[in-house]
Amino acid sequence: MSDSDLDVFKSAATRTVQALAEYAKSSRAGAGPAVKLAPIRALAESLDVPRLIREGGLFEDRWPAFLDDYLAATTRLHHPGYMAHQVAAPHPAGAIAALIDGFTNNAMAVYEMGPAATAIEFAVLNWMLEKAGWTPAPWPGSSPRDGTHGAGVLTHGGSLATLTVLIAARRRAAPDVWAEGNPPGLAVMASPHAHYSIARAVGIMGLGHRAIISLDTDDNGAILPDRIPPAFERARTEGRRPFVLVANACSTPVGRYDPLRDIAAICREHDVWLHVDGAHGAAALLSPRLRHLLDGLELADSLVWDAHKLLRAPALCAAVLVRSARDLDNAFVQEGSYLFHEKFQPGIDMIGRTIECTKAGLGLKAFFVLAALGENGIARYVEQATDLARRSFALINRRPGFSCPVEPQSNILCFRYGEDDAMQMELRNRLIMEGDFHISTTEFRGHRYLRLVFMNPGTDESVVEALLDRIETFANETRSAALP
Ligand SMILES: *Cc1c(COP(=O)(O)O)cnc(C)c1O
Repeated sequence: MSDSDLDVFKSAATRTVQALAEYAKSSRAGAGPAVKLAPIRALAESLDVPRLIREGGLFEDRWPAFLDDYLAATTRLHHPGYMAHQVAAPHPAGAIAALIDGFTNNAMAVYEMGPAATAIEFAVLNWMLEKAGWTPAPWPGSSPRDGTHGAGVLTHGGSLATLTVLIAARRRAAPDVWAEGNPPGLAVMASPHAHYSIARAVGIMGLGHRAIISLDTDDNGAILPDRIPPAFERARTEGRRPFVLVANACSTPVGRYDPLRDIAAICREHDVWLHVDGAHGAAALLSPRLRHLLDGLELADSLVWDAHKLLRAPALCAAVLVRSARDLDNAFVQEGSYLFHEKFQPGIDMIGRTIECTKAGLGLKAFFVLAALGENGIARYVEQATDLARRSFALINRRPGFSCPVEPQSNILCFRYGEDDAMQMELRNRLIMEGDFHISTTEFRGHRYLRLVFMNPGTDESVVEALLDRIETFANETRSAALP
């Protein structure tokens, strides 16, 4: 890196920070669209991407124009009409972390490649362990505490975190699995509303999707604990061996929490690992008012918690957390003489706990946001987003033609206009094409619903009202267009 590279960096970065601040300000004020889907090839060409790849020179004089064009083609998560997905409208402190991490490139799967980043990750994980009700890990080098303690690792996303957990759970049930492969009959119990990453992990692990035993749920999609013991009986008579049960906190489609305390008691009785998928909803642990939704979590074996969802960190930063450190330390069997050996070690190598070898300093993203707002600041945000979902539920149910399938427990809210499944897709397509509101859809109990996720502190009831007005208008237009 030459001095002139650094001069270019300084001026481009200064310009970038100004442009981003303007972008956030105008997005927040509702300048839009929230979403605009241009055709991909035209987009790449209008940004001059193929030529820039061949010839370079982006950061000399083209930068301001390129940046404006790029930002104009982004999905605006800071726009109050962004209610589509569970990805944070990130706090700017997280972007500073991304910049520093990108610049220093302390790929800290081994301590020597990122001591400061590892120290921060270790402390963030311990903070999360305490919130889960588990014993945090003693600092490496200090004398271990009596009894067991928890452990964790940050990974690039909840899906990878989920795979990590299921691998750890399988190792406990099948200690020889790394040498011998999967023993016959291993099965995974899960809610039918579990995130698709569970099924994907099961497939990757070579268990086959038929290894998933889908549990019975109530009208809200929450697991019915009473139905779990008979499911164990059935599995056993079929010669199957459930080794892990996955509960949602909360579920992706409708945001409901499974009853963890009852489920944990049954898992203990059957000696089965209880994994709590809190990728989205574990943040409720921070709020004294909402913490009861995860009552019983302390009895589980593991938790996945995404900081890039309700902790307002930019993607990606997901935590794998286990009650007993041994379970995570035994998850993988590794070789690699250039990395795994005795050495001068005043810290800890995270590499034994992850699928990744090179790993970004992910902890910075969660830490900077926490350190900007404090845990109480995040708790207020989670409460505000949840309260908005609850008020919007009432508001939607009051409006003729609209209905909600489930009363929200989190910041996820499903609803529909009319009864026709195809109509919901049509409505969403119209909304996306227009761009003022960005919402998603989901299937729940065999029907299609429109789906809101309140991630943006700038979204309020007036935005929801305006969205409903727009949906009514579209529906009326569709109806009159269908008249002979
Ligand atoms: C988002 C989500 C995941 C997947 O996490 P990614 O970080 O998107 O990979 C898993 N489970 C639940 C419940 C989720 O909401």
